[in-house]
Parts: sequence; structure tokens; C-alpha cells
Amino acid sequence: MKAMIVPVTAFAQNCSILWCEETMQGAVVDPGGDIAEVEAAAKRKGVEIVKILLTHGHVDHAAGTTALKQIFDVPVEGPHEEDAFLLEALPETARGYGFPPCESFTPDRWLKEGDTVSFGNVTLEVLHCPGHTPGHVVFFDRKDKLAVVGDVLFQGSVGRTDFPRGNAKDLVSSIRNKLFPLGDEVIFIPGHGPLSSFGDERRSNPYVGDRAF
Ligand SMILES: [Zn+2]
Ligand SMILES: [Zn+2]
Repeated sequence: MKAMIVPVTAFAQNCSILWCEETMQGAVVDPGGDIAEVEAAAKRKGVEIVKILLTHGHVDHAAGTTALKQIFDVPVEGPHEEDAFLLEALPETARGYGFPPCESFTPDRWLKEGDTVSFGNVTLEVLHCPGHTPGHVVFFDRKDKLAVVGDVLFQGSVGRTDFPRGNAKDLVSSIRNKLFPLGDEVIFIPGHGPLSSFGDERRSNPYVGDRAF
């Protein structure tokens, strides 16, 4: 699997394009906005977008979903149904943050722990990782040891839990009991900021590193 990041919205959200090198079919993860740039990036790489994946329902991750779906006419998969209240509130949240107008929507498929999503010959595992939002999911490519973690974990930090239905205890448990066991060598793409590995965060993250426990 290949991956590239297109930073979108005023929040510099890491929208990622993931694709299968054998078929050149791919997925857009978290199209928060700046859809023209996402479309152009996929075109430049020669990737045929066949799916939209969402880690969670926050506006900087999901607000461009319906616009992108209109362009590519592809299914939207994720997040977990617990984030339905966020997707329903998208139009007013977008207004509040000064985003372009967007529609609320229901994804074609809600995801849950143990599900898989696929495009081309790539299959990703789905982990339900609540805490930042109750319906947050993480996508994991076990073959290439790459995880797309949204706003669960960042280099040197963790996702905020002060938003509606955030839960700090759940967040720590998601990271330490679900993500870290995937392996120190796993590289992750966070929703914001630079890439890191689970091993590096175990060693040095002040919130969830081994020294904090
Ligand atoms: Zn978020
Ligand atoms: Zn975010």
C-alpha cells in the first residue's frame, strides 16, 4: 500500500490518500475540506478513488465528505455509529468554525471493532478507539505496519477529550490496550502534525508513554 498526505482545512488536518500499487485503486481518509486539492492529488498520482473512509465525525475530518462523494460517486465507510450525533451536527458545526457550508449525512456503512475495509488488493483492519469521540475508529494495515489514527494519538501528545462525549480514560485505554500492542515498529499517520511510531510514543509520549504507567 502507498500513502500520501494532503493537509486540508484551517486545522491543517492530515487528509490521506491510501492506494493499492497493483490496481491503483485507493481511498481518501478524512476529507475535511479543500476537496479540489484532494482530487488533484489523487489525479497526479494516477489513483482511482473507490472509497471514502472516516476516522471520526469532527468537522475538520468529515466536512468535505458529501462534496467528495458527489465527485467520485463512491461509498463512505466509517466512523463507528457512536459518532452519528457529530455527523448530524456537521452543518451547524461548520458554520461555527467558519467552514464552507456542508450537509449532514449517514455513511453507507458504519464500522465496528473487527471489521475490515478494502480497496484494490489492500485490506485494512478496523479498531474502535473511543475517547476523543465515542465513535472514533483507526485503520490498520498489518502487512505494511501502517496505522491511520485520526485524533487518537499524535507525536508527543494525545487527542483532546474535552469535546462532547470525550472520555480521557477511554482514550488512554484505546491507545495502550489497542494501538500499542500492534507493535513498536508500526508507523502512524495522525490527524494533525508529523508521523511517528508506536514505539517512539511508548518511549517518550508524556501522556501515554510507558513511564507514565
Ligand atoms: Zn477530532
Ligand atoms: Zn482533527
